[in-house]
Amino acid sequence: MDNRNKCAGCYRQFNKMEHLVEHMRISYHSNHEPLCGICHKHCRSFESLREHLIGPLPKAECERIFKDRGCDICLNIFSSRHALLHHRDKCHFSRRNNGYRMGIQDELRMDNTRGKVVSLACKMVGGGSDGSLDLCARVCLIDENENILFHTYVKPNLPVTNYRYDTTGIRPEYLRDATPVRQVGRKIQDYLCNGEPIWQIRSRTGKARILVGHGLDHDLRCLEFEYPEFLIRDTAKYPPLMKTSKLSNSLKYLTKAYLGYDIQNGVQDPYEDCVAAMRLYKRMRAQDHRVESYPLASDQQNRNNFASWRQAELERMSPERMLDMSRSDYYCWCLDSK
Ligand SMILES: [Zn+2]
Ligand SMILES: [Zn+2]
Ligand SMILES: [Zn+2]
Ligand SMILES: [Zn+2]
Repeated sequence: MDNRNKCAGCYRQFNKMEHLVEHMRISYHSNHEPLCGICHKHCRSFESLREHLIGPLPKAECERIFKDRGCDICLNIFSSRHALLHHRDKCHFSRRNNGYRMGIQDELRMDNTRGKVVSLACKMVGGGSDGSLDLCARVCLIDENENILFHTYVKPNLPVTNYRYDTTGIRPEYLRDATPVRQVGRKIQDYLCNGEPIWQIRSRTGKARILVGHGLDHDLRCLEFEYPEFLIRDTAKYPPLMKTSKLSNSLKYLTKAYLGYDIQNGVQDPYEDCVAAMRLYKRMRAQDHRVESYPLASDQQNRNNFASWRQAELERMSPERMLDMSRSDYYCWCLDSK
């Protein structure tokens, strides 16, 4: 087959070079996309990589090798079956066997030794006439090592009409003397800013902490505080963890698929969600990608990568050269480790 009009990233074949150029302008292929360990195809998400390796319509050669020595959790390929078995123990997480104390920890101390990255999760009870309005009633904040920084009940500022007891385990008396939601929100925001006034936070290299979670927009709205977007690592919005349809996966699904265990059965503790989101974040951060000096398509230095070239010039380039010039349209979490 003629490979001239074939995308060097996702291997899509085009009839005409101009169509490949159009494809490259909008695909934002990069080193940061999930890659097949066998044929090196670039995928937009781990879900599409999974489809490529496992099915429903896998690529036969890759499927065969993957079945033999691929890890069904991280989707990496190993040199031998033995290496795979050795790896799988470390890759496969289990739900913590309650080595931690479930108790309340409602003193959030400013403590700089606790590291730069924290994970937040809430549990909601219902408000409004039909109980469908989410009101935060419980919140948990942990550090990178899964230690609890803050774990407390929260008093909503509207009447609770449904305690959702089956999943929250929350009873009215737990909330009666709890701290009001606005105060809790402010406390957490102060902790995250870590001494920097929020309006002065400009970069991720300052003192302010990185906030990890799942569906943080909703949590922050319920806790009534804001935080800068560039310090937020949301497992519901990170493209490699999203569906091929570009919708979010649930945290329950992600934990099962990419960490290998079940969460959110029965009464739910926000600690468990914090841990799952933090583990997913750390796994994504640990990805071993080659990092360019300017990794983002939106970096000033890359603004013109495709725009400044005339169509005719691009059409004369090799697919590999175009891929080399292409940059990611999202911030890859591996960059947090550099
Ligand atoms: Zn492509
Ligand atoms: Zn990366
Ligand atoms: Zn492949
Ligand atoms: Zn693995």
